[in-house]
Formats: sequence, C-alpha cells, structure tokens
Amino acid sequence: AQASSQFAQRNPASRAQHERALQVMPGGNTRSVLFYAPFPLAMRRGEDCRLWDADGHEYTDFLAEFTAGLYGHSHPVIRAAVQAALDGGINLTGHNLLESQLARLICDRFPSIAQLRFTNSGTEANLMAIAVAKAFTQRGKVLVFKGAYHGSVLTFAGGPSPVNVPHDFLIGRYNDAAGAMSLIQANANDIAAVLVEPMQGAGGCIPAETAFLEALRKATSDTGALLIFDEVMTSRLGPHGRQGQLGITPDLTTLGKYIGGGMSFGAFGGRADVMALFDPRRAGGLAHAGTFNNNVLTMSAGIAGLRDIYTAEAALALNTLGDSMRKRLNAVCRAQGVALQFTGLGSLMNLQATAHPIAHIDDTTEGDPRIRDLFFFHMLEAGVYVARRGFTVLSLPIRASHVDKYVQAFEAFVQRYRDLIGT
Ligand code: PLP
Repeated sequence: AQASSQFAQRNPASRAQHERALQVMPGGNTRSVLFYAPFPLAMRRGEDCRLWDADGHEYTDFLAEFTAGLYGHSHPVIRAAVQAALDGGINLTGHNLLESQLARLICDRFPSIAQLRFTNSGTEANLMAIAVAKAFTQRGKVLVFKGAYHGSVLTFAGGPSPVNVPHDFLIGRYNDAAGAMSLIQANANDIAAVLVEPMQGAGGCIPAETAFLEALRKATSDTGALLIFDEVMTSRLGPHGRQGQLGITPDLTTLGKYIGGGMSFGAFGGRADVMALFDPRRAGGLAHAGTFNNNVLTMSAGIAGLRDIYTAEAALALNTLGDSMRKRLNAVCRAQGVALQFTGLGSLMNLQATAHPIAHIDDTTEGDPRIRDLFFFHMLEAGVYVARRGFTVLSLPIRASHVDKYVQAFEAFVQRYRDLIGT
C-alpha cells in the first residue's frame, strides 16, 4: 500500500491521463497487460532504450514493447526505412515490391518456413495456423498447454477471464511429455495440431525441455497432427530462432513482434504442402485476407531490421548479454540466500518468487504475491522500467552499463525487502 501511494504521489500527470482515459475506455485501458493499480504510467517519449513518462521521469526500458521493441525507440536504420516507405506512398492498394523481400529474409532465417503469409499480429498468425492445420488434417482438436499465451483470443496463462475463440482445445501440462503423449494417443485421430511455445513467455519465461519438444515432434509425426511452434517471442533467441538452437523442425511456425521492425506484424508459415492450401490459383483452397497484411511501413521496417540490423552476430551478442545478466542476477539471489530467481533464455527473463526449480506455470505461484509488486515499484524508483509481472527484455541499445544499473537496483531491492522475501 505504501509503495503504491508513493507511486501515485510521484506521478500526477500519469494519474490525470488515466482519468481522461477512464471516460472513453473501460478501465482507461486498451491492452489488459498494461494495467496495474493504482494506475499505469503514461509514456510520453522514447529514444534508444530510454523512456520518459508524462511526469518527466526517465527510465531505462527493460520491457521493450514486450519484445517487439528489439531495435529500440529510434534506430536510425528503422527510421530511414519507415521514411522511405512514407515517401513511396501509404496504402498502395496492390501487391508491392517489398512483401516478397521480407518473406525471403524470413524463409532464409527459420528452417521450418518454406512459405509464409503475413498478418497484423501474432494473435492472427496463430489463428491462421490453427485454421490451416484443421483444414489440412481435416481434424478438429488442438492441443495447447496450461500457461501458454498465443494471443488475446488464445490465452491459457491465467489472469482475468480470457475471451478465447471456441476451438476444441485439449490443455496439457507444459514440460510433461508423458502427459502430452497420453493425450495425443487418446485423441490420435482427432488432433489437428499441437501448438506450443518453445519457451512460455507470458507464462513466466519457462523454457521447454528439449526432450518435451522432441516428444511432441515424434508424437505429431506418428499421428499425422501438425506441430506448430509459436515463436512470436522466441524467434529472437538465436540466428535461426529457438527451432534452430534446438534442431527441431515444426510443421508450422508463427511469428510476430520485432520482425516487423516495431510496426504491427505477424506471420505464419512452414511446410510448402500445408501453405499451398492458400494458393489462390487452387480450386477449393483457403482464403486469407487482411487489409494491412502487406502494409509498406511494416514491410520496409521489417526488411531493414532483419537484413541490416538483427544479423546472426547481433542475435548472438544480444542473447549472450542476456545470459550473463541472468547469471549475475541469480548469483545475487544465491549470495543473499533469498527465495528468488530469474528464469528465461538469452535476452528474455522473468523474476520468480521462489528458489525451487520451475517447469510449469503452477511452479511460479509460490511466494508472497506482494514481492512482485514491490519489485516493480522499486525498479521504477530506480529508473528501470520492467513489466508489472517481472518480465524483463533486452533490446539492442542496451549496453553493459544499463545491465549494471539493473543488477544494482535488484541488489538494493533484495536488501530492502529481505525479511519479506524470505529464504
Ligand atoms: N504468441 C506469443 C508467444 C506472444 O508472446 C504473443 C504476444 O505477446 C502473441 C502470440 C500475440 O501477439 P500479438 O500481441 O502481436 O497479437
């Protein structure tokens, strides 16, 4: 309560903005994830990895638009690409010269993607991947895992009641290969697709064990279901996505976030025989429309990002920095003997209020729920912007000095609240 009232006192302009928003949007909100009590900060401006809120406080941005902000807020190459698209005319009402260039860069990068189609969001990409899997297999069920987040209408990660599309879902336990095998075997003729994040992102940065994903690969191949990797978040983890690191090739992959250079983006793709269902020359195929699927701002920014900025070397460097940061944070937890840890891979991590191993979202609910709130408000006071749930994301402008700032702020947090956190 004290941290929250100090926050309210410190942020009168954000409060006023929230009050204006309340008049026209339920709860003053249009993205559920961005609400927290007493009211969310309103951001005024961003530059590289810095953000300024409505009251003029400066933050180092360790959230980076929930991973879509990989390039930072003002990368000159991205800005030039967007400007070039603007100069060429907005909304060209036809095929354009850019869409197949971005598609080529993506197909070359991700081993499973022979052909792809664009959408406007990761949510849509997953909806379309499920649709094509159902059409291809002529089956109806979809196996997902508790804790998963595949988009606003495909939410299995808890929180407020989701408004999910009414698919015939089976919900398995993440990282429980034996459990998934029995679900798949019991529904062997009915499962169209297994949809899985190679690391659950919104669920708390919980990596899938390789053996779990290998078991899903084998069981889907054996039963004729399609394996869909949702790499909307994880595709940044290596030069060829998480699938490249694991050496596991799904039938379909869904993408989103940074790949549009920070503009609205989604894509789904994979096996050519599956994607061929969308070939408009084919009788009885599937239609897939979307006014903004090939919009020039996204296409241009996306091309510049993949071709000129997020090279294999850049991906390795960023994720190595993330690995070393997570190691340092976990070393602080161990040295201080507190029941905290950071889970995740590479440039993505999440604070957990337990020292026990975490394989599943149910493992993350231990500990005093106030700890995450206090962490969040403490980090804001220290000028470090993270997600309310403790989700922490590295973007390309982050340097070693920013990581030092984060680690020092975290150490101070542990010392300040050691008694509450416990051991
Ligand atoms: N899938 C995963 C793994 C995500 O993390 C997200 C977004 O956070 C989505 C899908 C949905 O993407 P979008 O917000 O672009 O609809």
